[in-house]
Amino acid sequence: MDTKSDRNAWLTGGPALCNVPAERKERPRRLVLLGAPGVGKGTQAELLSASLGACHLSTGDIFRAAKGLDACERTPALTAAVDCMKRGELVSDSTVLALVTERLRCLRCDGGFLLDGFPRTVAQAEALEKLLQGQNLTLDAVISYDLPLEQVVSRLSGRRTCAGCKAVFHVEARPPAKPGVCDHCGGKLFQREDDRPESIRVRMHAYEKSTAPLADFYRQRKLLVPVPSEGSPEEIFDRTMSALANGRG
Ligand code: AMP
Repeated sequence: MDTKSDRNAWLTGGPALCNVPAERKERPRRLVLLGAPGVGKGTQAELLSASLGACHLSTGDIFRAAKGLDACERTPALTAAVDCMKRGELVSDSTVLALVTERLRCLRCDGGFLLDGFPRTVAQAEALEKLLQGQNLTLDAVISYDLPLEQVVSRLSGRRTCAGCKAVFHVEARPPAKPGVCDHCGGKLFQREDDRPESIRVRMHAYEKSTAPLADFYRQRKLLVPVPSEGSPEEIFDRTMSALANGRG
């Protein structure tokens, strides 16, 4: 197992470098993780990152990091993006693409990458294809985490995150030993603003309309690897590794 990759270059953008450069891989993995919000992509990305050494690149994490900054430290586009995120709406393609283009070096990273939450629209997928072509890079596979809608909504509405170490719990499926308190660091657990019922409805609508069509986009390119996402994170991870071994990637 590799140690957790340092994501400073991705989270900060601009000229920022990672404090611990990624280990050069003989065969860096370049994967996209697709799936509805709440399906467990973030957890799988962490597990895959630890196993494959590829860096977990989440666009949602960029916006959450920006939310923690003072308003004067954010560009107007980033402030508008944070407001969209709070409402559960998608951030505009142009803002997302500007942020990813600014972080192109993360796509070239010697350790490979696991894109989580990007691309989210066909326009973003087409732009990613061009960005990668321009760097002479190709995707190994696009893993599609599939789960029935009612289970997705239940996972999202019960999700709680630690304010300290960012560990994720679920009030029923993975409850902390003491309600509201993180098992790992004792931090306070909170519900993400976009996991509240009114935002969940908006996010699911955005997913069905804009992101679900990406499965066809990548199926046509013979990159899609479907993974059923019932069960524990470990079971889903094992399924992912077998699917990668049997399918593409
Ligand atoms: P996530 O953590 O991936 O669920 O992202 C949280 C929120 O950030 C989303 O609900 C959107 O508001 C925004 N977001 C993240 N990635 C994208 C993207 N690729 N395109 C548009 N909006 C995004």
